[in-house]
Amino acid sequence: MTDKELFKHLSYTRKNAYESMNEEEKREMFELCDEYREFLNEGKTERECAAKAVKMAELCGFKDINTVSSLKAGDKVYKLNRNKSILLAVIGSEDIKNGINLVGAHIDSPRLDLKQNPLYESDGMALLKTHYYGGIKKYQWTAMPLAIHGVIFTDNGEKVELNIGENDDDPVFCITDLLPHLAKDQMSKKMTDGIEGESLNILIGGMPAETEDIKEKVKFAVLKILNERCGITERNFLSAEIEIVPAFKARNVGLDESFIGAYGQDDRVCAYTTLKGIFAVKAPKKTAAALLVDKEEIGSMGNTGMLSASFEMTVAEIIEKLTGKCSLTDINTVISNSRCLSSDVGAALDPNYESVSEKNNAAFAGCGMVLMKYTGARGKSGSSDASAEFVYDIGKILDNDGVIWQTSELGKVDQGGGGTIAQYVANLNMDVIDCGVPVLSMHSPFEITAKSDVYMAYRSYLAFYNSL
Ligand code: MN
Ligand code: MN
Repeated sequence: MTDKELFKHLSYTRKNAYESMNEEEKREMFELCDEYREFLNEGKTERECAAKAVKMAELCGFKDINTVSSLKAGDKVYKLNRNKSILLAVIGSEDIKNGINLVGAHIDSPRLDLKQNPLYESDGMALLKTHYYGGIKKYQWTAMPLAIHGVIFTDNGEKVELNIGENDDDPVFCITDLLPHLAKDQMSKKMTDGIEGESLNILIGGMPAETEDIKEKVKFAVLKILNERCGITERNFLSAEIEIVPAFKARNVGLDESFIGAYGQDDRVCAYTTLKGIFAVKAPKKTAAALLVDKEEIGSMGNTGMLSASFEMTVAEIIEKLTGKCSLTDINTVISNSRCLSSDVGAALDPNYESVSEKNNAAFAGCGMVLMKYTGARGKSGSSDASAEFVYDIGKILDNDGVIWQTSELGKVDQGGGGTIAQYVANLNMDVIDCGVPVLSMHSPFEITAKSDVYMAYRSYLAFYNSL
C-alpha cells in the first residue's frame, strides 16, 4: 500500500452524492424530484399535506385504521389526526413487541397566519392583518406574490376550503415595502426591526363599492366579493384558520437543474421522502411507521404536534388491533424497543455566509443525507444527543445500502441553534437521531435543496424501514 492509499484508508472525506450515483440512480432521482415538486405545489399547508398523504396512501393500498377491526402482518393502515397530522404503518411479520421502525417528519412550515379579525380599510385600500408563524425573517415576506389557503366556516356551518392565488388566472396578494427613496430611516434600522410584525398586512383590495351610504367602501366591496365567491361574512373570520404562503410554484434551479427551489421544503422534503420510503416497503419484518406531525415550527405543542399523546394512542390502537389486547406494559415495551429517524432538514453550508459554519462539521448541499447526532444551542442545550451505538447502527444501515451520507451540526459553536421533534421522541424512551436533507435559505419563502440529497433521503428511509 502506498502512503497515498494508506491515507485514503485511514482518513475520512465527505463524498459528493452526484459523483457516487450511476445512471439508473440519476434517472430515479430526477423522476422522484419531478413528483416531489408536484407534492410541494399541492401541499402548501399542513392540512393540504395531510390530505395529500391520505390520497397517496390510499392509492398504495393503505386503509383508514378506523375502518379496520383487526390487523395482521403485511397490512397497511393510516391514522389521520384532526386533518393536520398522520401516522402510516405497514405491519411487520415479527412480534411488534420487538419495536417499530419509525420515521417522523413535520408538515407545518413558517408562514403568515391571518389574525382572527383581520380585515380593515386604510387610505382607500383593504388589508388583512397577519400574525407570523414560526421563525421567519420578516423582510423576506414583502414585495412578492402571496396566496391565501385555509379553512373558514360559513354562518350555517359549511366548511369552505380557501385556495386563492395558485392558479395562473387567480389574483395574488402582497405585502408592500417602502421605496428606497424614502427608506432612509428604515434602512438604518437593525434587520430585525426593519419590517415590524404589525406591518405585515396583506393588500387585498382597492376598488370602492358604488354606494353613498357607507364610509368603508373598499372594505364593503371586498366583503361582497368574499360573500359571492365563498359565502362568508366578516364574522366568519373569527373562527377561521387561514395561512398566507408564497404564490409561486416549486422550480428546478440551476442550468443543470441540480437544485429544487420552493416554499416549505422544511420539512416537506423529509415528509415526502418518508412517504415514498414507506410506500416502497414490501413485507417488512419490523413494523414500519411514518409520522407526519404539525406544529414543529412553534415548539411541537398542541394535539397535532409531537408532544401530543396521539402517537402513543395510535401505537396502542395498532397493538390492540394486532394482538386483541393492549396493556400499558405492551405500549411501553413497543415504544422503548422502537427506533426513530427524526427526519428534518439540516442547514447546508452557504458560500455566501461561510463564516457561520465550521467546515469539518457542516452539511454540504449535494453530499447526501445528513445525520445530526445532536442539535440544540450553546452547550448542546435542548438536544437529545443520539448515542454512539445508535449512530453507528444507522450509519451501518445506510452504508450497507450504498446511501451517501454526511454528518453535521447547526453552524459554529455558539452561533445560534435549533431543535426538532427528536428530543420529544427521545423522551418517550426511544432511540432517535435527526437526519434529513441539507437546505439553503432555510425558513425563507424560497428554500433550496439538492436533488441528490432528496434522493438519498428517500433511499435512507427505505433502507431503515427494511432494517432489523
Ligand atoms: Mn424542520
Ligand atoms: Mn424549521
